[in-house]
Amino acid sequence: MLDIKKIREDFPILKRQVNGKPLAYLDNAATSQTPQQVIDVIVDYYQNYNANIHRGVHTLSQEATDKYEQARIKIQKHFNAAKPYEIIFTSGTTHSINLVANGFASLIKKGDEVLVSAMEHHSNIVPWQMLCERTGAVLKVIPMNLEGELRMDVYEELLNDKTKLVFCNHISNALGTINPVDEIIKKAHIVGAAVLIDGAQAAPHLVADVQALDVDFYTCSAHKICGPTGEGMLYGKEEWLNKLPPYQGGGEMIAEVTFEKTTYADLPHKFEAGTPNICGGIAFGAALDYMNSIGFDDIAKYEHELLKYATEELQKIEGLKIYGTAKNKTSVISFNIEGIHPYDIGSILDKLGIAVRTGHHCAQPIMDFYKIPGTVRASFAFYNTKEEVDVLVAGVLKANSMLL
Ligand code: PLP
Repeated sequence: MLDIKKIREDFPILKRQVNGKPLAYLDNAATSQTPQQVIDVIVDYYQNYNANIHRGVHTLSQEATDKYEQARIKIQKHFNAAKPYEIIFTSGTTHSINLVANGFASLIKKGDEVLVSAMEHHSNIVPWQMLCERTGAVLKVIPMNLEGELRMDVYEELLNDKTKLVFCNHISNALGTINPVDEIIKKAHIVGAAVLIDGAQAAPHLVADVQALDVDFYTCSAHKICGPTGEGMLYGKEEWLNKLPPYQGGGEMIAEVTFEKTTYADLPHKFEAGTPNICGGIAFGAALDYMNSIGFDDIAKYEHELLKYATEELQKIEGLKIYGTAKNKTSVISFNIEGIHPYDIGSILDKLGIAVRTGHHCAQPIMDFYKIPGTVRASFAFYNTKEEVDVLVAGVLKANSMLL
């Protein structure tokens, strides 16, 4: 059992007021809050050992390099990657996906097919569209049903020997659906296609074991798991990372440079050009330490309770419709109230100190599927409480009475 009162003490921001009301932060799918333990690591870096890594002989540079590489190992262990150099530090999921999509331009050709799920974040759609434009490959879509679950029967029909790549999120940011990534990966491998799973929304709720999944690429952003923004990782199987060309050229990613020819550094440095977000990488490791100290099994159980309670309470409101009712879902509730624009609900909730997301959640194809402009999205983390759910429900009722 989680001691939520104690956990909340770790998050200074949760004590603040917004518009004169106690903050109810329910926008965790957009970004999570940062515990003092991670803030301390960030402060410690800048106060005590801020230096560039991998290139200095001096003590500060050595210390920063050691901590940065230790963070890589923490991330490797967390996701159970076989080798530390299969973890590439990136600025986040968007960067990770672009790195892979860019690399595949030299591996796929006109007429090859790539499959994307219907419930992707734009960052797992647009880079692949750009890849298809460059190469002449064809983008095909795995559809979903009204509950917000992927049509696995259609997926099987779409797979064939022209399929080179499949990309799908582990959990949908707009609907909360937990996708059957195990099955998606197994089926893709039968036809020899590589699979990229966007783990941005899964990382805060569950631990993905990349070896057990046998996934080719897996991504995550530190800011969704109590870490800093502008930091994340790409996991890639060694064989795939060796096949992909570098994404960016610059310092750190080379073995030797002459004006005639440059050779590239080994993994992971081949993909890490320039000075990275050193503090961000170290804080990413600290964020994983923090989340693991709470425990993902307990987090999942507690968030499930919150989801169940919030769903039941919101459903009591007349005219409220929830989008995304998959059997297997996480603590995200996207909803609308008949006759009210989601933005108006969000604005009133903000006046009441309640932070939710409104709009298309960078997933316009999902909104098109449901023929709506957007939704109000409340997304819960392990530090949220049932009392905050009650505040949300009261806020929605108030918005309802003001706007209808
Ligand atoms: N994929 C999913 C499912 C997301 O929810 C997000 C962010 O909301 C992203 C990708 C993009 O992550 P980032 O902006 O950290 O690169």
